[in-house]
Amino acid sequence: MTQVSADDEMPEHFDVLVVGAGISGINAAYHLTKQCSGTRFVVLEAFETFGGTWWSHKYPGIRSDSDLHTFGYRFKPWVGPPIATAEEILAYMGEVIDENDLAGHIRYRHRITSATWSSSDNLWTVVARQPDTGRESRFTANFLYMGQGYYRHNEGYWPDWPFMDQYEGQLVHSEEWPEYLDYAHKQVVVIGSGATAATIIPNMCDKAAHVTMLQRSPTFFRTGRNAIEIAETLRKLEIDESWVHEITRKQILHDQTAFTARTFEEPEAVKEELIGEVRRLLGPDYDIEKHFTPSYRPWRQRIAFVPNADLFTNIAAGRASVVTDEIECFTRTGILLKSGEELNADLIVAATGFNMNAFGDIAFEVDGKVVNLHDTLTYRGMMCTGLPNLVSVFGYFRASWTLRADLVADFFCRLMTHMKETGAGAVAVAPGPEEADMQIGDWVSDEDFNPNYIKRSLHLMPKAGDRPEWQHTQDYWRDKDEIPAIDLDGPEFIYNGQVKTPL
Ligand SMILES: Cc1cc2nc3c(=O)[nH]c(=O)nc-3n(C[C@H](O)[C@H](O)[C@H](O)COP(=O)(O)OP(=O)(O)OC[C@H]3O[C@@H](n4cnc5c(N)ncnc54)[C@H](O)[C@@H]3O)c2cc1C
Repeated sequence: MTQVSADDEMPEHFDVLVVGAGISGINAAYHLTKQCSGTRFVVLEAFETFGGTWWSHKYPGIRSDSDLHTFGYRFKPWVGPPIATAEEILAYMGEVIDENDLAGHIRYRHRITSATWSSSDNLWTVVARQPDTGRESRFTANFLYMGQGYYRHNEGYWPDWPFMDQYEGQLVHSEEWPEYLDYAHKQVVVIGSGATAATIIPNMCDKAAHVTMLQRSPTFFRTGRNAIEIAETLRKLEIDESWVHEITRKQILHDQTAFTARTFEEPEAVKEELIGEVRRLLGPDYDIEKHFTPSYRPWRQRIAFVPNADLFTNIAAGRASVVTDEIECFTRTGILLKSGEELNADLIVAATGFNMNAFGDIAFEVDGKVVNLHDTLTYRGMMCTGLPNLVSVFGYFRASWTLRADLVADFFCRLMTHMKETGAGAVAVAPGPEEADMQIGDWVSDEDFNPNYIKRSLHLMPKAGDRPEWQHTQDYWRDKDEIPAIDLDGPEFIYNGQVKTPL
């Protein structure tokens, strides 16, 4: 294919360049039109359409695991069942784009490869490549708003199992689901027991001969009806949907606060409740101790919600089963386990997660120097030292991602307005002299949240300090009060200054 160099053309200029048209990027576009009207902005998206996660995932049953009242936008009521399919989420996002005239701001098939900051011009220069033609375009922007998500789409994480190449059946990854995969009447083994496995398994049970969930160690699950009582009551009373949305959000957040607090204050009691529910669903003879009793505190890893307990009803009916063991190696016909047991399978699904992407795998340069993100320090998970005029979204692990996307978008709009009023062209963050003794560590502490995809990728992520301003706290209930109250003239903000070395 012929490569057209970005240098051949004059760059197009925007006030703000938004990376990605997933839930975060579309949210940013909405808030920019409402809170900073007149701002010239563009959203560059690598895919051919919007949706991000909800577009790229194709495995059977793909659905949210948090409720759409809080995962949905605060400005657009969610009127369906709380746990939604990818299709429903895409339709909802499409309505947001149409109702707010956002389509004209989005350019699809633009994968950003590099972003270069010049302090003398107060500008980012961004190069985007069109995946199908190889054509490159250049843009300049005063601000970058990073809505790139947190993992590489369509690229699963494959552990290095011995003799994988000798397996003669079909091997697929949940992140790379083939468009036409026929699994009717097949013996299927799904490796993994996170939210993805818990979704795929019940959704394959209708057609497959049998589905086995193979896990190295147990995970916590929550089950319940795919409905929220207060929303149902309010709807029965014919309350306006915008009120239903707001009140239901408040109720959910209230309940989540109480639940999260309990996982820290009385982990054993919470553990017993979660496991007790599984015991009730699977009956007294089921080996709950072996298959559904995790060794860690609840919420140290994301707790998957299983709507209508569909995973467990399929296990109870014998259509699915669980094996807790480790893989010794692949064989011609399946998997040999460390216990010596062998699992035969026509189809093996690796639901083993993904690889993180740090800031969209974009190569950053500031004033001629390459920036390694791991040499930067996070400012509340929204900005980084050494990267001026750049704000990024990374959501919550224990609450819906969009709650944070909203807080970050509000912060960004407030910051831009402040800079316009004060005539500042550049803003960077840096700890002050009183923070000279601050301890610097990993972006997320192992004690707080420790899934494998994060542990594998900490070397790619910014670092964190031992003070809340210099951490990504993962605490919505703190952020919702603190972020709107940030003093934009505080000592951590340096306007029109020299960009300091990241750390
Ligand atoms: C299967 C699955 C289910 C999930 N369910 C939930 C849930 O129920 N609740 C919850 O809170 N979270 C959930 N998450 C986490 C989820 O990813 C986020 O909640 C949310 O969808 C992220 O939105 P985003 O827009 O920030 O990122 P993404 O959805 O990842 O979208 C980012 C977009 O940016 C684009 N992009 C990235 N890099 C570049 C680049 N260099 N140039 C141009 N474009 C780029 C991508 O193509 C993509 O379209 C789930 C994740 C997965 C994988």
